[in-house]
Amino acid sequence: MARIVTILGATGSIGKSTVDLMERDLAREGGPAFKVRAVTAGTKVDELADVARRVKAESAVIRDKSRYGRLKEALDGTGIRVSAGDDAVCEAAAEPADRVLSAIVGAAGVAPTAAAIRAGNDIALANKECLICAGSSFMALAREKGVRILPVDSEHNAIFQLLVDVDPASVDRLVLTASGGPFRAKSADELAQVTVDEALHHPTWSMGPKITVDSATLMNKGLELIEARHLFGFPPEQLGVLIHPQSKVHAFVVFRDGSWHGELGAPDMRRPIDYCLNWPDRAERATSHLDLAEVGTLSFEKPDSERFPALRIAREAMVAGCGAPTVLNAANEIAVAAFLERRIGFMAIPQLVERVLEEADKAGLLHEPATVEAALVLDGQARDLAAGRLLAA
Ligand code: NAD
Ligand code: MG
Repeated sequence: MARIVTILGATGSIGKSTVDLMERDLAREGGPAFKVRAVTAGTKVDELADVARRVKAESAVIRDKSRYGRLKEALDGTGIRVSAGDDAVCEAAAEPADRVLSAIVGAAGVAPTAAAIRAGNDIALANKECLICAGSSFMALAREKGVRILPVDSEHNAIFQLLVDVDPASVDRLVLTASGGPFRAKSADELAQVTVDEALHHPTWSMGPKITVDSATLMNKGLELIEARHLFGFPPEQLGVLIHPQSKVHAFVVFRDGSWHGELGAPDMRRPIDYCLNWPDRAERATSHLDLAEVGTLSFEKPDSERFPALRIAREAMVAGCGAPTVLNAANEIAVAAFLERRIGFMAIPQLVERVLEEADKAGLLHEPATVEAALVLDGQARDLAAGRLLAA
């Protein structure tokens, strides 16, 4: 029986990598192992129609309702069902599937992913913002529904693999690696001057614009610490970061006896996606190869949270817990969008996030959101604070 997969965010970077895997699967000797139930996208209607045809999806959903007619026209005669709007995205996520690949960017992915969990669908989670925005209630919902959260994010996927059959008491700490981004070697003065184009040029990974900027500020690694906290249950003091510019080792599990175990692979998201889609089995073939002799040297260094304050701010939010990560995530999304629109400079991103966290604290907003919906309300309040700050600046 083919496994049924739904792809939320099918036109994005992770979505396209998944589409590539599904196309390869369609050409598999002996018939496909997967069947694509639904594909969804935000606004890119022509790309969505193209993807839906290529993976032979049963349905295609565009979030932007004004593009419904165009999607319908583009898929006319294919037999692929079409729908539009936020509710339609959530309905597609809730259709029965063996895996829902959650690859919408930002907190916009929370409601559809929660809808998939409520329907009992196992999740291949790329959208880390789900766990930053609504971590505790999101994981509680998954536990309540008996749903598995399989991590796509490469570092967490590595740790997930490394922790198979491991007694948590034998683990000293988890170490996430970070490429260091395009500005690893820049001074504080130089960082203040970097441009959007420079920030969008990642040295080792090809990703969507938001996460590429997060990687340049190191906010991404801070978000990933919080993500690891929720996925694996280790306390903040057992979670660390190492800069590793070659991006070949994705994470380490360090055992109490001093043994370091790492997971290595080419920086290609198709591998962790494939792992999550095939779990508990493994894919039959590799999509990319790692030649360590050719790489030659793997190097590691400590992160510098003075030049990259986002890492410190995110770690503090992780330690504070409750509503702090929700506010951190919302403020960061607003700040990154403003940077991409060239309204603020690069170093204003962590500054804005820190100010909004202070304001939210003063306003008494940083209590634990009891449900996913409560987290989304706090997310909205934090966005308002951030937007107000931007106007005042
Ligand atoms: P992207 O910007 O390339 O794609 C985002 C997708 O979400 C698109 O299909 C877009 O149409 C859709 N979308 C955007 N807003 C939406 C909305 N409001 N409603 C419904 N759909 C919407 O992003 P990406 O780089 O593919 O990242 C997706 C997620 O995966 C992010 O959470 C990111 O942190 C995570 N992630 C990405 C990578 C990577 O290599 N790109 C690696 C690890 C984790
Ligand atoms: Mg990652």
